[in-house]
Amino acid sequence: MRVGLIGYPVEHSLSPAFQQAALDACGIPARYELWPTPPERLPARLAALSAPDVVGANVTVPHKEAVARAVDELAPRAQRAGAVNTVVNRSGRLIGDNTDIPGFLYPLARRGLPVPDLRILLLGAGGACRAAVVALAASGCRTLVVANRTSSRAVALVSEFSFGHPVPLGPELVRVLPVTDLLVNATAIGWQGTESPIPLEWLDLLPAHALVYDLTYRETPLLAAARARGLAVLDGLEMLVAQGAESFRLWFGTDPPFELMMQAALEARARRFGTNR
Ligand code: NAP
Repeated sequence: MRVGLIGYPVEHSLSPAFQQAALDACGIPARYELWPTPPERLPARLAALSAPDVVGANVTVPHKEAVARAVDELAPRAQRAGAVNTVVNRSGRLIGDNTDIPGFLYPLARRGLPVPDLRILLLGAGGACRAAVVALAASGCRTLVVANRTSSRAVALVSEFSFGHPVPLGPELVRVLPVTDLLVNATAIGWQGTESPIPLEWLDLLPAHALVYDLTYRETPLLAAARARGLAVLDGLEMLVAQGAESFRLWFGTDPPFELMMQAALEARARRFGTNR
């Protein structure tokens, strides 16, 4: 049996490390493979998913939206998000789902955070942000502000879901930050160098109890600056493992060993980045 990751590029992925650890621990005779797929090869890759020995796939950048349009059937939450990160091969029929949605919520639930009571500022308007908006809407969030570099995308997102308030990613945020309990970075900023989605000194405006949640699954300048200010921080690794654990449940119908997956992900991240953050 085989499962794999469809994306381009995928070589950097931590998923094989923690998915294979879970498969081995559960005694499931399957391999988790990397399936690098340039856009022109996506149709052939999807066709190959219907083979009897393929259980399913994860999907990552840049294919999540295209796969949502191509599968035979969509889970309701994937339909809402307009994006698929998990495909299940059910006797040749491809079912698309989106486990980024429960994955985003998992670390918040694990910390006992009451989503309906949190005032949330979400930075971004791309795929990860859409998953977060679907997740927050479904869990009763009442106060959401969405800020994105391209303002019109935040406006369109909020209007599509009839949920949240768009604010430009700029000086207007200094009025929002003091009334924010949870700041989420769902932009692509954080992987490289010293870039931050907002000026780091603006973190001084957050209440002392605020949590800074960066979906980047490693240390970022934003997280480092928040930690230095005594704020609670959370990187994206737990979300990554949580979305993978939910994919595993969909493929194999059984609960994977989450802590073992988390440990394997931490070790794979340390190997990749040379640091344990
Ligand atoms: P995406 O769809 O490409 O969206 C990228 C977002 O980043 C857009 O809102 C874009 O704004 C913004 N952005 C890009 N460059 C920027 C810049 N220089 N300044 C300000 N904003 C900028 O990407 P995505 O799939 O949503 O992923 C976003 C992040 O979430 C990535 O770091 C990804 O690794 C992470 N992620 C993590 C998990 C996890 O499990 N932890 C899951 C999914 C994604 P514009 O609209 O203005 O271009």
